[in-house]
Amino acid sequence: MTLIEKESPTRSAAVATMQAAVVHSFGEPLSLETKPIPTPGAAEIVVEIESCGLCHTDIHAAHGDWPVKPSPPFTPGHEGVGIVTALGDGVTEVAVGDRVALPWLGYACGTCEYCVSGWETLCPEQQMMGYTMDGGFAQYAKAYGRYVVKVPDGIDPVEASPLTCAGVTTYKAVKVAGTRSSDLVAVFGVGGLGHLAVQYAAIAGGRVIAVDIHDEKLELARELGAEFTVNALEEDPVTAIQKLGGADQAIATAVSPRAVEQAYGSLRRHGTLVFVGLPADNYVRLPIFETVLNGITVVGSIVGTRLDLREVFELHAAGKTRVILEERPLAEVNEAIADVDAGRVPARIVLRP
Ligand SMILES: [Zn+2]
Ligand SMILES: [Zn+2]
Repeated sequence: MTLIEKESPTRSAAVATMQAAVVHSFGEPLSLETKPIPTPGAAEIVVEIESCGLCHTDIHAAHGDWPVKPSPPFTPGHEGVGIVTALGDGVTEVAVGDRVALPWLGYACGTCEYCVSGWETLCPEQQMMGYTMDGGFAQYAKAYGRYVVKVPDGIDPVEASPLTCAGVTTYKAVKVAGTRSSDLVAVFGVGGLGHLAVQYAAIAGGRVIAVDIHDEKLELARELGAEFTVNALEEDPVTAIQKLGGADQAIATAVSPRAVEQAYGSLRRHGTLVFVGLPADNYVRLPIFETVLNGITVVGSIVGTRLDLREVFELHAAGKTRVILEERPLAEVNEAIADVDAGRVPARIVLRP
């Protein structure tokens, strides 16, 4: 935080400002700007951001890749973690000084049929951090007190960041997949999402097959609990996985329609394909005939609830998961985006303002 003195002959007002990375038009680099620190309205809080992961979604947001687009100018970031510095009227869920995570689901109505049945992530009134609300690529961010999740003591805030989207998203995907002990689970793509999906599938009791096109990522997947690995450049993952009996569940985190089609092809009868990653290219071709005759389930899974994120933090605090990340200064957000696009990062980049 810096204080800029406004020069005035009659008064001198101090305006508290912060740095934020802002998207002004799709496809252009983000601009680092000085903005006023937000002030909380009713039910809102302000959080001093310690770290915020860079998710593929932020890049798609900045490019305007998806059918539902954000409205520039906006600040991306939905893996923000930081300390609460101010409370608006009526906030009782958190206190100043608490460390909280600001996930994708920035707001939900709390009363619709989805909200009251445990599917707040499907609320039609929802607002999304870093998409319809300014997100965590800044020194401060505003959030709704009811929709942040406390980060338990003992969790490094930098590690909490990737858990806030990549973690909860894959944790939920494994829940949606219905993985039970002895199930064969194929995880397509071992990046920010996939390296956590491998771990949650193993925690659920699954025998994990990791599929990627980089040997070092497959090596990482083995370290994180994958029993089998397939390099899709060297062998056909469909053939390789069918040789193992076919996957009970396939979790598609790779942002490539081709990988999603391979994930479908790797299933055994009665298998389940979970769509998680969101490629800019929105369509895949799947056969109706085989889906019907083999009793295949295809299901989409979007992030997770506040309860899911609490469980993710609980597992991490208990030492059950590892987060692979690389820290970069927020000022290097554009270079970080270029490196993610080029596949030059191990799993997750976490930006620090
Ligand atoms: Zn994300
Ligand atoms: Zn709702």
